[in-house]
Amino acid sequence: MSIVDDLRQIVDVDRVSNNPTALESVSIDESSLPPVQPEALVQTQTADEIQSVVSYCYEHALPVTVRGAGSDLEGSAIPIKGGIVLDVSRMDKIIQLWPEDLQVKLEPGVVYDKLNDYLKRESLFFPPSPGGSSDVATIGGMVSTNASGIYSVKYGGTKDFVLELEIVDGTGTRYKIGNRAVKRSSGYNLIDLIAGSEGTLAVITSVTLQLLGIPEGNRKIAFKFKSEYEAAQTVSVLMRYGLDLAAVEFLDRSVIEALNLLNNYGLEETPCLFLEIHGPQPVLDATAETAAGVAAEMGGEPLTLASGQNPWEIRHHATNAIKLRRPGYSIIRNDVAFPISNLPEMVQYCRQLAEESGLLIHAFGHVGMGLLHALILARKEDVDEWKKGLEINRKIIRKAIDCGGTISGEHGIGLGHKAMFGLEHSGSVDLMRQIKKVFDPRGILNPGKIFDLSARE
Ligand SMILES: Cc1cc2nc3c(=O)[nH]c(=O)nc-3n(C[C@H](O)[C@H](O)[C@H](O)COP(=O)(O)OP(=O)(O)OC[C@H]3O[C@@H](n4cnc5c(N)ncnc54)[C@H](O)[C@@H]3O)c2cc1C
Repeated sequence: MSIVDDLRQIVDVDRVSNNPTALESVSIDESSLPPVQPEALVQTQTADEIQSVVSYCYEHALPVTVRGAGSDLEGSAIPIKGGIVLDVSRMDKIIQLWPEDLQVKLEPGVVYDKLNDYLKRESLFFPPSPGGSSDVATIGGMVSTNASGIYSVKYGGTKDFVLELEIVDGTGTRYKIGNRAVKRSSGYNLIDLIAGSEGTLAVITSVTLQLLGIPEGNRKIAFKFKSEYEAAQTVSVLMRYGLDLAAVEFLDRSVIEALNLLNNYGLEETPCLFLEIHGPQPVLDATAETAAGVAAEMGGEPLTLASGQNPWEIRHHATNAIKLRRPGYSIIRNDVAFPISNLPEMVQYCRQLAEESGLLIHAFGHVGMGLLHALILARKEDVDEWKKGLEINRKIIRKAIDCGGTISGEHGIGLGHKAMFGLEHSGSVDLMRQIKKVFDPRGILNPGKIFDLSARE
């Protein structure tokens, strides 16, 4: 019997496929890394099915790559070692809501925006929006990558909201980890181990989240600066004022140029900071006034658009504007994070690298928590140019690490950042390998991602 025949004994026939079109559709994610097809696609509907499928794969040493929406940007959802893709996107039910406790339990395939639409009726929300992918990203995928977004400055990333997980490890054994207590000092924090593990330790079959009440009001303001350095310096000062800012976004002049090219917004081509404040009216007024005072002292001016357009709505198109800026060019991306005092040096470094190399580098990000994206445009067909782009990317990542930071503050490691993972974790990769063995002794869960199982691989 073939793998497909075997799996059809476990899951309905029409939810196990080796049809070339189906296999092709799960051979990629949103990274630009090359596709790899699995041997079979299995769409599960229950935790029992997941357990049986993983047990089968454990017995046959068959790789399992779990897939939510496949919106990963670092190749983590690509089944590079073949085996099966375990698609959990059909598991999209809200299992239970406890409005008085501000908590919800759900299946892993629930999509972020759909969850927040559902929660609105109780004036609740789950804050860490994964930006431009919020309409597709699943909660299971968000936990697995510890996704975060513009509001993570105030509220934190996905893992900060996870109370309880139900998981199936690499042997097919089920566990419930955590509980619904908001404050715990009880044993090892296994939730933090699973959050950000990119499907390499376990398959998440349910998630219980802590939620927040929707704030009474919000205010969006924006400032322009003469230089990237000034804008970046302002961030640490703003944060030290103790202002309760929900979002602090930076866009360098290259990003503004790209936005103007996309849609002729007529924005002055100068670096900007975008802030969002959440709270009751008096808090909004007072915080906005203090923030404007700080920005002015640091050389900033309010950014207003003659057309009456909202600068924040324009900011939403930043990634797309960069993507479409030069036809035939591809993006080399990073999502470094570091202590915020290093921001001026980091943005200056990006500008310096752009000037030296002649390549376009667009720096922007959730800088209130020291997260910066530097998107480099280069042509894959031009071997030297592509190499140069990759080298610049490495330099930016190395600089972030040297500043006490991380390779990835947002998107995870997957395949895209794997080669540099040891730079950040040289002393502890071996410890991670040992942990991986405990959860997944045969190494079947998302093999080849984050780090290799043996230092010699
Ligand atoms: C336009 C765009 C904008 C984005 N913006 C952001 C952003 O602002 N912030 C951010 O953090 N990310 C962002 N991302 C990246 C991506 O959307 C997030 O990483 C998201 O959390 C992935 O969710 P997913 O359902 O698509 O997961 P997938 O891509 O399907 O999977 C991601 C990883 O999680 C694992 N996984 C998925 N489900 C499970 C499960 N149930 N159990 C165990 N492992 C699982 C997979 O094996 C894989 O390793 C963006 C992506 C795009 C395309």
